[in-house]
Amino acid sequence: MTGLGCGDLPPRIVTPPPGARARRFADSLARSEAPGVNTLGAKLPILWQEAVGANVLDVDGNVYVDLTSGFGVAAVGHRHPAVVAAIQHQSGILLNALGDVNAHPLRCQLADRLCRLAPVDDAQVFFTCSGAEAVEVALKTACLATGLPGVLAFRPAYHGSTLGALAVTSREEFRAPFAAQLNPHVVRVDHGGPLAQVEEALAGRPEVGCVLFEPVVGREGTLFPPVGWLTAIADLCRRRGLLLVADEVFTGFGRTGRWFAVDHEGVRPDLLCCGKALGGGLPISALLARRPLMAAWATRGEALHTSTFLANPVACAAALAVLEILEHSQLPARAATLEPFVAARLAPWPTRFSQVDAVRGRGLLWGVELDRREAATSLVAGALARGVIALAGGPEGRVVQVAPPLTISEPQLIAAIAALESALSDGST
Ligand code: PMP
Repeated sequence: MTGLGCGDLPPRIVTPPPGARARRFADSLARSEAPGVNTLGAKLPILWQEAVGANVLDVDGNVYVDLTSGFGVAAVGHRHPAVVAAIQHQSGILLNALGDVNAHPLRCQLADRLCRLAPVDDAQVFFTCSGAEAVEVALKTACLATGLPGVLAFRPAYHGSTLGALAVTSREEFRAPFAAQLNPHVVRVDHGGPLAQVEEALAGRPEVGCVLFEPVVGREGTLFPPVGWLTAIADLCRRRGLLLVADEVFTGFGRTGRWFAVDHEGVRPDLLCCGKALGGGLPISALLARRPLMAAWATRGEALHTSTFLANPVACAAALAVLEILEHSQLPARAATLEPFVAARLAPWPTRFSQVDAVRGRGLLWGVELDRREAATSLVAGALARGVIALAGGPEGRVVQVAPPLTISEPQLIAAIAALESALSDGST
C-alpha cells in the first residue's frame, strides 16, 4: 500500500497543476527529448509519480482520477496487485527469452488462452509488442494469405504511427510528411457510412484483399457505427472473398461492455488485433487469426516477421494475470452495468452546456463532442485543475474521452463526472 491506498480515492489537488516540480521536470525533458513527442504534456506538464487503481499521483502530490486508463491500458486498474505479483514472480525466473527462436512456458499458456478467448474461428496467435505492430502483422498476414497488397480502410481511423500502420491511419496531419513511404494500395471510405460507398470504392480495385476496421473509432473521435454496420461489413467481406480484419487494440478486453466490441453483433473476424489492456501496463500485443491464414507464415528459413522482445516472459505473466482478473471479476460485465449510469449523467449535457454538441458511448467508453477545439482544450484543462485526467481526440481535437479503468469505484466515477460538469459550467458561454 502507498499514499494512494488501493486506488479508489477521489481527486485531491494540493498544488494547482502543473506544480513547481512538474515544471522543472518538463523543462529538463524539453532540453533532452525530441520536440513534438510530449506535445500535450508541454501545455499541461504534470508528471506521473505513481498510479494505482483509478488514481494517479503527480510529482507535486496531487491525486487524480484517470479517465484515460493510461491510453486504455489500465482496464484492470493501474498496478493491480495480482499483475504486480505475477510480474514480481516472473522477474525472479526469466526476464527475456529468445523471441522467434526459443519460447518459454508462459508464452504457451498465454497463446492457448488467447486463442480460446478470441472471437475468431480456429484461432492462432502471433505475438507482437505494440498495437501498431499487431496491425502491421495483420496486414502482412492478409498480404501473405491472399497475395494481394491492397487494404480497404476507413475514415476516420487510427491504427498506429509506424509506416505500415500509418498507411491505414486516416489523419492527414500524421500522414502527409511521410506520404511517399506509405502503401499506395489503401482505399478509404467513411466509417459507419453506407455500404454502397464500400462497393463503389472496391470497384476496379482487384488488388484489395482485406477490410481493416475499428468496431468503434477510438482515438479519432469515439465514434460508434450504426447498429448492424459491423454485420453488414462482415457479410460484404464474405460475399466478395475479402478478409475481415478487426482492430480491437483499444476496444478489446471489456472496454465496451463485452470482451470484444465485435461481440455486440456476433461478428467473427478473420483477423483481430489486440494490445493495450492485455499487458496491464507492460508492452505486449497480439494478432489472432484463423489457422489457414496463419499457415501463410510457414517458412523453411528464418521468421518473416519478428522482434527482439516478442512475447516477453514478464509481459506474458502480466497478460495472464490480466485475463484472470477480467474473467474472475467479470469486468466486461461491470462496464456494461455502469453504462446506463454514465449515460444518464452525460445525456443532458448537450442541452445543459452550450459548447457540448453530442455525447455517445458504450460500456466505459464515452465521447463528449465539443463545438470547437478550444472548448475541448479548456475542458481538459479544467478537469485537470479539478483532479481529473482526460484526453481530447478526433481529427479536430474536439472529442473528450471518458474511458476510466473498468475497476473505477462508483464514488470516483461520480466525482470525476462532477468535475467535468464543473469545468463545463466554467467554460460555458
Ligand atoms: N489501433 C488502435 C485502435 C489504437 O487505438 C491504437 C493506439 N491508440 C493503435 C492501434 C496503436 O497502438 P500502439 O500505440 O500501441 O502502437
